[in-house]
Amino acid sequence: MQLIAKLGILADAAKYDASCASSGAPRRSSRGHDSLGATDGMGICHSYTPDGRCVSLLKILLTNFCLYDCQYCVNRRSSNVPRARFSPEEVVRLTLDFYRRNCISGLFLSSGIIRSADYTMEQLIRVARLLRETHGFRGYIHLKTIADADPLLIEEAGLLADRLSVNIELPTDTSLRRLAPEKKTSTIHQAMAVIHQGQQAVAGEPRAPRFTPAGQSTQVIVGADATDDSTLLRNAESLYHGYGLKRVYYSAFSPIPDSPASVPLAVAPLLREHRLYQADFLLRGYGYKAGELLADGNLELDIDPKLAWALANREVFPLDLNRAEPALLARIPGIGLRSVQRLVALRRERKVRYDDLIQLRCVLEKARPFIVTSDYRPAQGDVRSGLLRERLREPQAPVQMGLWG
Ligand code: SF4
Repeated sequence: MQLIAKLGILADAAKYDASCASSGAPRRSSRGHDSLGATDGMGICHSYTPDGRCVSLLKILLTNFCLYDCQYCVNRRSSNVPRARFSPEEVVRLTLDFYRRNCISGLFLSSGIIRSADYTMEQLIRVARLLRETHGFRGYIHLKTIADADPLLIEEAGLLADRLSVNIELPTDTSLRRLAPEKKTSTIHQAMAVIHQGQQAVAGEPRAPRFTPAGQSTQVIVGADATDDSTLLRNAESLYHGYGLKRVYYSAFSPIPDSPASVPLAVAPLLREHRLYQADFLLRGYGYKAGELLADGNLELDIDPKLAWALANREVFPLDLNRAEPALLARIPGIGLRSVQRLVALRRERKVRYDDLIQLRCVLEKARPFIVTSDYRPAQGDVRSGLLRERLREPQAPVQMGLWG
């Protein structure tokens, strides 16, 4: 098969993986070295997630043959799709060709499982080793890790790649047993632990070799099973704490060609994915706990999770911007972390006024009922008003009804 035909198949097969954003890579340049590439100056995007978002990597699979039969995956053993396989040397050639033409800024490489988990992992490592050691490639490399592979292979990959990721896909054992019978949560967690231990071993050791300097990430599919948002968020929280994950990516399930009856026929709402990203950001950046954001069930779609928390905890508000703790200021809807830093700096010099929030570009529509400044106080009872939620909810875009109701 011609290389271009393989590229068509294996780039298309990789588009379902959302966990390839290249954020967090260290700055690395080839200037002054006998090498090529750099991890900064990115911006040319050549890979797309199923909903059209653009990422700046050559995003391909080594092969879409697979021994496993994950029901949600287009590459599963029982799927009737055209198959192809690159040799490691072909992936290296493509990466360097695209890189030299300034079309990409790095490589995201995943693979179906062929022969065995170890063999597949060895092939992925071979690509990274050829790029790094034979061709002096200093650009970004993200390798998808095969969870069942030998820990020594995972460690080897960690010394070559900027980022490793092990996809959790479905967060409960029950769902994995039903939809991905060859996978186990415990094996996935063990692989994450190996990566985390590798990172800890070199942390604070300036002379130690780099080990996944851009950290590890994972992807979870939303809407392929009945797992609710509260379980997804608790799971993400324990991954951040347990294995120091950089990111959990949420990918709204999109039906695959020739879908089995065990997975839904409809696309999961993208707004649900968006709300999960917002809630995840609150976990990572704002100090919220998953249980605070959602006791059970799914996130509300018509209001963002920070506003939902504020409305559910109205006794905390209104907060005086001249006195409240920074951690509490960050919980005011419409005021982001950077604005909190600026408000804290400002109030060391003088009283914070309402107009300062305009200067800081806070979302006043949301913030107004929850704040007090030196010259502003919300109307009596505004924050307690039963109409507040209705006033602040985001209008929902009309949705075309399905043919079958
Ligand atoms: S192991 Fe990966 S490539 Fe193979 S069927 Fe499962 S999700 Fe798809």
